Order: sequence, then C-alpha cells, then structure tokens
Amino acid sequence: MACDVEALARLGVRSIQPYQPGKPIDELARENEIDPASIVKLASNENPLGPSPRVIKAIESTVTELSRYPDGNGFILKQALAEKYDVQLDQITLGNGSNDVLELLARAFAGPGDEVVFSEYAFLVYPHATKAVEATPVVVPADNWGHDLDAMAQAVTDKTKIVFIANPNNPTGTWFSKAALENFLAKIPSQVIVVLDEAYIEYVDDPDFPNGVDYLSRYSNVVVTRTFSKAYGLAGLRVGYSISSPQITNILNRLRQAFNVNSLALIAASTALSDHQYLAESIVINQQGMQQLMAGFDELHLNYIHSKGNFIAVELGGQSQSIYQQLLSNGVIVRPVANYNMPNHLRVSIGLEHENQRLLTVLKQLTAG
Ligand SMILES: *Cc1c(COP(=O)(O)O)cnc(C)c1O
Repeated sequence: MACDVEALARLGVRSIQPYQPGKPIDELARENEIDPASIVKLASNENPLGPSPRVIKAIESTVTELSRYPDGNGFILKQALAEKYDVQLDQITLGNGSNDVLELLARAFAGPGDEVVFSEYAFLVYPHATKAVEATPVVVPADNWGHDLDAMAQAVTDKTKIVFIANPNNPTGTWFSKAALENFLAKIPSQVIVVLDEAYIEYVDDPDFPNGVDYLSRYSNVVVTRTFSKAYGLAGLRVGYSISSPQITNILNRLRQAFNVNSLALIAASTALSDHQYLAESIVINQQGMQQLMAGFDELHLNYIHSKGNFIAVELGGQSQSIYQQLLSNGVIVRPVANYNMPNHLRVSIGLEHENQRLLTVLKQLTAG
C-alpha cells in the first residue's frame, strides 16, 4: 500500500515552500535554444564583474589539496576577518553562505512554541528557517516597504527568541539609520537574539548607516551576519559568516557541520578580503549601474523602491508576470517577487552598463505598447 510521505514529514517542513532561486542562465539557454553568452542575468544579486583574478589564482594554487578535508576551524579566514573587524577569533562563525548561519541561529535558539519576529517583505530565508524548526513566525507589517522597527520591537513577547532584521533588506533595498537601530536595540530584552543581516553593507556609502559590528560590545544578544556572495563576488562558492559574542559562537559551533565551508571557499574568501581594488571597483560599478537604472526607469515613468543594495525593485503593476516572461524570451532574466507578496514588482540586480542597457531597451519595447 502506498504511504502518504507528505503526512510523514514534520509539520514545520510541510508548511515550507521551496526557495525559488533566480533562473539559471543555462536553464533559459536550454529551454529557448539560445546561446548562454547572449543571456543577461540580473536575477540573483550576483556581482556582475565575475570573480576577481586574484581569487581565481588563489583557488588554482589550492586545487592540488582537494583530497584533504578543509580546515574545520577556518583559521586563516577567521584571522583575516578578526583583523578586519577588530574582533576575536572566537566571535566568528563561518557558514556555507550566510544562509547557513541564519539557519544555525534558528536551530540553536528557536523551536515549537517560540516566536521569531521579522518584517513583511523581508528576506525569505527568515520564514523558511523559522518554519523548519517549527517556531511561530511573527510577521510585522512594513512601513513604506521597509522595516518598521518600532512595530517590530512592540511585537516582541515573552515567547520571542529571535528577531531577524536585514539592513539593507532584500528584495526591497530599504534601510534604517543608526539612530533607528539604537532606539530599537535599547527596547529589546537581552534574552532575545537580534540577527542583523548585513549582506549588502559593502555597497552602502552613508555616514548615517549603522555598522552592526559597532554594537557587539554593548549588546551581547546581537549577531551580525555577512557574506562573500554579493560585493565580494563569490556566490558560487557559498561562504558567509557571523560576528557575535563568544558565547553565541560557542553555541553555533556545536551545531554546525564540522566542515561546513569547503577549502576553495576558505582560500577564496581570505584572498577576496584583501583584494581592495576589486571591492572598490564592484562598488563603483554598482553605484553607476544604480544611477543608470533609476534614470532609465524615470524615463519610462516606472516607479521603483529606492535601494541601497545591488538591486532595485521596479513596479510594473498587473503586467509584472507577463513582462517577466517576455524579458525571458528576450534573454533577460530578472526576479519575480510575488512570493514576497510583491506581485506588482520585479527585482532587478545591478549589472554591467551594457547589461542594464539591454534590460532598459527591452523594457521600453514591452511597456510602450
Ligand atoms: C543574498 C543574501 C544573503 C546571503 O546569502 P548567502 O547564503 O551568503 O549567499 C543573506 N541575507 C540576505 C538578505 C541576502 O539577500
């Protein structure tokens, strides 16, 4: 007799929708029988520069070591990070992408009956990680697409274990100031873990923007997560990290897989950290591309959400889904965000100048008629 496997799965798992990544270039090339080289992918907030040549060289010099397990303590990378942020090695937890660390946090601190607070339109990994551990998601309505930190502080109860906040947030690109964060942190009880997800902070150039690391000495419940997937251009290698109190690191360290970051990722990330020129160039390209896209959208009379990330959510109303499909037919991949409850927007990652131009040209044709 056939058994109902769905019913066998844990309740939390049954409530999860699989994460929908941006469409891979090769998949679209296969489906439409077009040359992958002709496709422009602006869908996953990847660095359009490609990996830095210094990183590629460092990886090449390490491939002969692939029969060995990686350094499970990630010493060299942690040392480089500790130096950069002026923290101790035992404050750093490495992850298979920062996604890994976000899940470790949920598994370590939340379970059935506990509440996890995050914002409407926040990064989908938060509800995903929350449901996976059968904790209760508490979704706080957004304020003009961004986090309403006052309302989030008010949503904290005796049952709250974790608050996830992204600054800037994905997919909206919205952000909050130092003053807003300080105000928020002062209101949160010290037994609630505050995860400050700063995946895009390298792109931000604003003296008013808070650096989560600055709050660690005052708030032992704060965890800052960052990644090499965006500005450092290493999305394919999967490496991210958190910085926190040593006590939190200690907890995460018990739960993580012993070799959660592979050897190529470790060498690539430590090399990328010292490749200041690549990072600077990535930031300039992002600033220019952001200006280019905003000007282009203005010209097409399209609204967008102002963003401090390497992406921008543009409003296309009821036509979003069909425009997404038509962009695909024209070899341009962007990201639908209906699964974020934003059916009227498409999220566009900032590309190289010619890639942005290609999107704007196709968009102009599609929205003209
Ligand atoms: C991309 C992203 C991450 C990082 O993902 P990785 O697992 O490090 O690739 C984390 N948080 C947000 C908000 C993101 O958009």
